[in-house]
Amino acid sequence: MDNIKRVGVIGGGQLAWMMGEAAQQLGIELVIQTPHPTDPAVIFASETIFAPIDDAAATAKLATLCDAIAFENEFINLEALMPLQEKGVCFRPRLQALAPLLDKYHQRCYLRDIGLPVPKFVAIEEEMGGWGDGEMGREGIENRQFPVPEHPFPVVMKARRHGYDGQGTFIIKNQEELTAIWQKIGNTPVMLEEFVPFERELAVIAARSVTGEIVVYPVVETQQEEQVCRRVLVPAELDPSVNTEINAIAHTLLNSLEAVGVFGIELFLTPDGKVLVNEIAPRTHNSGHFTIDACHTSQFEMHLRAVCGLPLGNSALHCGGAVMVNLLGYEHSHSDYLPKRQQLAQLPNCHVHWYGKTESRPGRKLGHVTLLLDTPDKSSAQALAQKVESIWYEG
Ligand code: ADP
Repeated sequence: MDNIKRVGVIGGGQLAWMMGEAAQQLGIELVIQTPHPTDPAVIFASETIFAPIDDAAATAKLATLCDAIAFENEFINLEALMPLQEKGVCFRPRLQALAPLLDKYHQRCYLRDIGLPVPKFVAIEEEMGGWGDGEMGREGIENRQFPVPEHPFPVVMKARRHGYDGQGTFIIKNQEELTAIWQKIGNTPVMLEEFVPFERELAVIAARSVTGEIVVYPVVETQQEEQVCRRVLVPAELDPSVNTEINAIAHTLLNSLEAVGVFGIELFLTPDGKVLVNEIAPRTHNSGHFTIDACHTSQFEMHLRAVCGLPLGNSALHCGGAVMVNLLGYEHSHSDYLPKRQQLAQLPNCHVHWYGKTESRPGRKLGHVTLLLDTPDKSSAQALAQKVESIWYEG
């Protein structure tokens, strides 16, 4: 066994904050690299290096203070970290497992190449190519040759790096919008993909240990509004064959990457029952927050177990089901919203998690609420989510 007792974490947002709670329970210390003293996870850190996430010199210092380094955030400078790994710094997952995932286009190519089902996609490159060949020339867009006739609008344009919560993702309905958005972000490398008229969006969290053990959490339904996750229904009501297929996708992906730690997998379920992989997060994920209150082992404990070389935990639900609702900022303010949080806490079987951010902005993730259910019933989960949202956004 590795005997890892001090884990470095690159990133100090709410994911690291929730890892902090799990670390305390496991008797593991966290050392955090994050830019601001007000970042949520700072309160759980035994030491903090205040530096940007992509500051590799700061990560070199972090490495001297811990036994292994984990990531809460993938906006890193991978190339600059490689020499550290070559000198023996233990990154978990190792950098080779992150390399194919950091750029959305490279990620899509990787998923396609290992045989996983993905939406049709194309990168806008200098070289002219065609839809399906994986590349298309800038001239294609500028000369209004896009989309190609067999793939009509809408299409989806995505910044290849640094997108999150729908930032950098644009659903484009017509040529005018395409031209306008291309002019706005045309200097950023982008990927275009077919719009998937999904029946539902699904997600699954899976973890792989140093020894190759894999555990998969229940598949969930995620509900996005304006490309931001609003609620997660647990478990997703699915045909068993779809569950089996998603489990197989998780195994293929994690084994192929030789991953260590928790990975989030976002999927589309099409109206004819096909599963497509939308995106991989090489870390803990918003769609897995329910695991803190609803599963035997939370995704955060699971991640730390994997990073520390411990046996993985139990990913099963200890209740019939759950619904998780994100508490998103809806105004600019410095409030801690205590009265609303107290009101939410009074709902039956309700767990309120507040990330301690000092500033609220529209769309910013400030906290989340998980309500546990006796039975997996979608309509009562949906009604509870509505109740939470009416207290939070209207109350
Ligand atoms: P981010 O990395 O910003 O979360 P995603 O790729 O996950 O970006 O996109 C955010 C949301 O936008 C998705 O959850 C989905 O609702 C919508 N979306 C993204 N790609 C497509 C697509 N190809 N077809 C339809 N909707 C999409």
